[in-house]
Amino acid sequence: MSARGEDLHISEGNYRIELWKQDRSEMIANVNTAANHAIHTAAWQEAIHEFPGFLLIAYNGRFKTDEFETPTRPAGRREATFGDLSRFHLVQTWCGICKRSNMFEAGNFAERFGKDTTIKSVEGRLKCKQCGSREHVSLRIFKKPR
Ligand SMILES: [Zn+2]
Repeated sequence: MSARGEDLHISEGNYRIELWKQDRSEMIANVNTAANHAIHTAAWQEAIHEFPGFLLIAYNGRFKTDEFETPTRPAGRREATFGDLSRFHLVQTWCGICKRSNMFEAGNFAERFGKDTTIKSVEGRLKCKQCGSREHVSLRIFKKPR
């Protein structure tokens, strides 16, 4: 196989999650390496809950695949979580800067951020893919017409 062909092949078994301070001044730990994507996804969710108030960065080999500032644990009254949403819900992301919006199945959010994560805590931490704005993406919940 040519060297070029090798470059295009992303092998299994190279998933890793790094734990950083949110100001990116210091990497604290390598929290998980996984041989397959399912284990990696489960570890990612777990890390969000285990390390509130940090920055998680996911890699597959040399490629950064995801990063997320984990919310600090909410104090006081219970807010709605992704686990409260059903398959009849849709989540719309909306960027207050460039007005880009997107519709997702609620399950996508539960899968990525965990069922116990509050909707509010994720809002404002999402990055707009169009304009790169970080603090102006809001979430709206809709019920699918039945
Ligand atoms: Zn935007």
